[in-house]
Amino acid sequence: MGALAVVIGSGCGGAQHARARAPSPRLAGRTARAAAAPVRTVSRLDLGRSVRGRPIVAVHIRGERPGRTVLVVGCIHGNETAGIAVARALERTRARRLDLWEVEDLNPDGVAAGTRQNADQVDLNRNFPQGWRPLGRPGDQQYSGPRALSEPEARIAYDLIRRIRPSVSIWFHQPVGVVDESGGDLGVEQRFAAVSGLPLRRLTRYPGSAVGWQDATMPGTTAFVVELPPGRPSGDAVRRYARAVLALSR
Ligand SMILES: [Zn+2]
Repeated sequence: MGALAVVIGSGCGGAQHARARAPSPRLAGRTARAAAAPVRTVSRLDLGRSVRGRPIVAVHIRGERPGRTVLVVGCIHGNETAGIAVARALERTRARRLDLWEVEDLNPDGVAAGTRQNADQVDLNRNFPQGWRPLGRPGDQQYSGPRALSEPEARIAYDLIRRIRPSVSIWFHQPVGVVDESGGDLGVEQRFAAVSGLPLRRLTRYPGSAVGWQDATMPGTTAFVVELPPGRPSGDAVRRYARAVLALSR
């Protein structure tokens, strides 16, 4: 929590690099009110480090008229990386109605090693506090860790979410190719399914999952899993998934 609080509280400097499009010289003669109109900003926030010391970063994109606060986590299981491309595509969007937070990669050690788990061999999506219970042993597919929030990557997501309280959170996984009815507002999940072209299905709900914690403890918000199809998504597919995220941002 400490690093994040410092970064967000500071508003400038430190690890935050806000980048706003400066008004063009042509606008210089306009009224002060027009000059003060909000612009699109992209900020990068250093959230902390993984077990192996790799940085975990959030990108915050605010459009000219911020809409609902939406969080996208591109990757939590290190061998399911397709969502990272979706997150990166969203960073280039010019949508005006946007208040979008993204963690492209919550499990950089797992991505580097090509493993589902983090460097402690923990399944991060079994390490959140809601209904946490011991599952498996180190190296097992769904090892939940020694206790809830034992892993720095899970704590980083937990702290970020409690701070920004997203109305909608989308956690990308692979390879099932469905939008999971994970809890929260079914209409939100239906909308994502309709725009993305992925079918809506209810998958097994596991103890200690990130969306389970969010949906149980933050009433009025919706967190859900999107299982993208296997392999690397095409450019068309990435754009379609990005449009589905933007459809929930208005
Ligand atoms: Zn997964």
